[in-house]
Amino acid sequence: MEKKINEWKAQVLAGENLSREEILEMLAIDPESEICDKLGAAAFEVARQVSGDRAYLWGAFGVDYKPCSMNCDFCSLGEAWGIITTQKEFSMEEVIENVRYYAEHNVRWIVLRTTEFYSLDELGELIEKIRKEVPGVYEIGLNVGEFDEAKANQLYERGVQFIYHSLRMGEGKDTAFDPNVRKSTLSAIKNSPLKLVFLVEPIGIEHTNEEIADVCQLTIDYGAIVSGAMARVPVEGTPLGRYPQLSERRLAQIIAVVRLACGFQVKDICVHPANETAIRWGANVAVVETGSIPRDRCCFPQEKWNNFDIAQATEWFENQGYTVYNKGE
Ligand code: SF4
Repeated sequence: MEKKINEWKAQVLAGENLSREEILEMLAIDPESEICDKLGAAAFEVARQVSGDRAYLWGAFGVDYKPCSMNCDFCSLGEAWGIITTQKEFSMEEVIENVRYYAEHNVRWIVLRTTEFYSLDELGELIEKIRKEVPGVYEIGLNVGEFDEAKANQLYERGVQFIYHSLRMGEGKDTAFDPNVRKSTLSAIKNSPLKLVFLVEPIGIEHTNEEIADVCQLTIDYGAIVSGAMARVPVEGTPLGRYPQLSERRLAQIIAVVRLACGFQVKDICVHPANETAIRWGANVAVVETGSIPRDRCCFPQEKWNNFDIAQATEWFENQGYTVYNKGE
């Protein structure tokens, strides 16, 4: 296997893509094994070359802590799970204050996240206001519901630079969405000037290697500028909350595989929730989040979710020889 890993690394560094079979073979490695450390080390070498040792921070702010009628089986905001007892919608001033914090603390990508049916026109207005009030080189984007190409162009014109969107693991089974509707939003983004960020998520122990490989390929096919992997965080009271979270090493292994699969096609690979092994095995982007969090039973107006903050992320990247920048090259 070690020989194969070296060959895969050489292939990727030569600009060749790995096959689905090779990706499945990597995902089948025991995450607790020594050979998985070799896989991680190979992915790290690729990460250093592809990223030029540049790491970036992703700052998310959840704008509305409100029940969402889409009731995804992994999300704490699902109306049917009855987890939200006190609703909160953050004011424009509160959103701006949080964006300013990220902009002043070296965050490259700042994203406003909402439940499915939040008004895109209101968000467009909010983005215009943020652009006027918060100076800086940061890039601003949205993680919202579905929209078509005309709306994608309108959002871009109002100052939105990127969209976080994904075909989630178990889409159509663990969610009430028609996967084609999610895909049509992904196409609308691809056909507009908006950039796409798309992680393989939310991955749980219930997902197969085939499902992981297929969504990983989609992140490349839809032209994501950032790919990566996010673990499903089990929230008590949600239907999938009874299944445990992936181990840190398994998430790190998936990061290594996504890094190798994406090669030079997607330069930046994000892990969430971050762990140091995943950063050692190929991730160069980490997420800090505040506000309404679909991975928790409460809302975080100021403090950072999971106690993971900018200082911690920066320290972990610097430990691996990265420098954290607030803009691309
Ligand atoms: S994941 Fe999004 S669409 Fe699904 S319930 Fe949560 S907020 Fe709604």
